[in-house]
Amino acid sequence: MIALARRDSQPVAAFTVDVEDWYQSCVDYDAPITERVVRNVHRVLAVLDEFAVKATFFVQGRVAEAFPKLIQELVIEGHEIQSHGHSHRPLSRMNRAELRDECERARATVEDAAGTRVTAFRAQDFSIGAENLWALDVLAEVGFSVDSSIFPIRTPRYGISGWPLGPHEVALPGGGVMLEVPVAVWKSGPCRIPVAGGGYFRLAPATLLARALRSIADTRPPVVYCHPYEFNATELAEYRGAASAGLLFSQGLGRDSFVRRVRHLLTSLPFGRFDTVLSAWGLT
Ligand SMILES: [Zn+2]
Repeated sequence: MIALARRDSQPVAAFTVDVEDWYQSCVDYDAPITERVVRNVHRVLAVLDEFAVKATFFVQGRVAEAFPKLIQELVIEGHEIQSHGHSHRPLSRMNRAELRDECERARATVEDAAGTRVTAFRAQDFSIGAENLWALDVLAEVGFSVDSSIFPIRTPRYGISGWPLGPHEVALPGGGVMLEVPVAVWKSGPCRIPVAGGGYFRLAPATLLARALRSIADTRPPVVYCHPYEFNATELAEYRGAASAGLLFSQGLGRDSFVRRVRHLLTSLPFGRFDTVLSAWGLT
């Protein structure tokens, strides 16, 4: 485990956004990327601007291809651009050649749009687990040096039970290392409670979330994640009939109050870009 010491007057917690278009990323990987993602990213920017917070946008390659001007706008506004894969197909279903192609395209498309180097990665649906840890080796071969893809709890869909909660270096079979930075999970007694994003983030009381993230910040950088479409309370209604009622129901839970709880969090801790936060904690 890396010994962490944080510099004062720097953001302590990372605010990250996985930039994708809901229907393509959650229902049909072959669907086109729509303008919805542009409108929703602008909603995210409006909230961040209220608090003068800069964030890190992990951008899906297909979004960067479809809307390069949006990515350039984020760079101009001072936000960090990194990679959220290319296709949003789960990495855990890819063989080594397919994964290499996915990661190379992910990096190249986002770098082309942003005009900046892309060195950090967040896998679609946290799809690096115990059975495909070798994916980290492929990421390093392609040029990534920081990864935030391994969920440190085993859930029905993803994660590794007992995975370290804080940033740490993973030695790779190829000889290099990957700085692995898990999203925020709060340890309370024997329990590990996910507080970084997703359903718990949308449904738990905002004050409890803020308390958990402040507690994490005593020893390591809390990393939260969200999606542009979560900032749009009415979008899911447009998909009635095109996606299953169960999926629309579960994804809609807590969405009405999502922006309100993000505002609460942004007043609770000093948030910033992923790279700034890692530097503030002496990790890069
Ligand atoms: Zn995603």
